[in-house]
Amino acid sequence: MLTSLATTSARPRPAYRVFAATAARVVHLGSTFTRVSFTGDDLADFGTAGFDQRIKLVFPHPATGFEDFPRSEDWYQLWRELPAARQNAFRTYTVRHVRPDVREVDVEFALHGDHGPATRWASRVRVGDPILIIGPDERSPDRTVGIDFRPGSVERLLIAGDETAAPAICAILEQVPRNTRGIALIDVPHATDALVVNAPVNMTVRWLARRPGEVSGDQLIPAVRDWVARACCPQGCHSGTTCRIDRALAVARNETAGADAPLGDVPFEDVPLGDAPLWDVPAGRSLDGELYAWLAGESSVITTLRRFLVREAGLDRRQVAFMGYWRRGRAESE
Ligand SMILES: Cc1cc2nc3c(=O)[nH]c(=O)nc-3n(C[C@H](O)[C@H](O)[C@H](O)COP(=O)(O)OP(=O)(O)OC[C@H]3O[C@@H](n4cnc5c(N)ncnc54)[C@H](O)[C@@H]3O)c2cc1C
Repeated sequence: MLTSLATTSARPRPAYRVFAATAARVVHLGSTFTRVSFTGDDLADFGTAGFDQRIKLVFPHPATGFEDFPRSEDWYQLWRELPAARQNAFRTYTVRHVRPDVREVDVEFALHGDHGPATRWASRVRVGDPILIIGPDERSPDRTVGIDFRPGSVERLLIAGDETAAPAICAILEQVPRNTRGIALIDVPHATDALVVNAPVNMTVRWLARRPGEVSGDQLIPAVRDWVARACCPQGCHSGTTCRIDRALAVARNETAGADAPLGDVPFEDVPLGDAPLWDVPAGRSLDGELYAWLAGESSVITTLRRFLVREAGLDRRQVAFMGYWRRGRAESE
């Protein structure tokens, strides 16, 4: 008995657990975002580690609510063992704010119509509606699990993403040291989606509103290329044919014969868009005078951006964190 107790108490508290909460406030931001402030006694221990920490939101089953959803540490295994008809849907979101003193957590949903359990739930949510959050436990030694923004000590940041990444980007901008330099490029459906964010003065924040007929990436990809060309040209020269970044840009724009143009020195395998999530989050390291890029959004857009930065602009792949937050035409796999 003593042995088993000792074993139990020696086990570290898991990084994540299931929190029960209800919607306390619902605020519509711009044309696309709905911020839901969740509350509940349980949230007193919700993790406050910050940046882009991810969580899972579990939505009520239309017939059984949360009756069948397992609350234990091995919830995922037990959930998988349930018959499909009794499984609750869940999706991945970002902690936008945490206020442990009043036991509240904010999540910002980018609504995209009615196609998907998360967007459907968030389009109809009312104060008092229940939810389960699988989130970080403040008392766990592993409470920083789920944070993918790990720049290390680099000089500049390039942050790029679409509306699904906007909550993470705003959280990052509000928490990085105030002397941080760089740019955040945020691709959103409408001009009214530009949110107020308290960014460091030397971080330029550009909200790129899609024009009629444009899709995610149409403005973001050229904006990233142009910024890299201006900010990262190693010679600072823009000397046309002799400038490596200018050459990469030309290749990217199909203005020169791509096959003949030299690529960066870094070996690179294209990231396939198979079933595996598009995800690589290196821990940033100090690359003197260099850049850390954090990219999140629709998978094919993120693949294009990552390819440009690593293969064409020659960034070290350890400088580039990239995350496919969603994939066009595919529901998030649970
Ligand atoms: C780490 C992480 C953090 C995230 N944080 C946030 C966040 O804070 N806020 C947020 O809004 N999203 C966030 N997302 C993205 C969100 O999880 C996905 O958009 C998710 O697919 C939404 O679930 P759903 O039930 O609405 O749609 P699903 O059932 O997953 O998909 C249904 C259909 O909708 C499409 N679809 C999904 N998302 C979009 C979209 N945004 N626009 C157009 N079509 C879409 C899919 O391609 C699919 O065809 C995050 C994702 C990850 C991985």
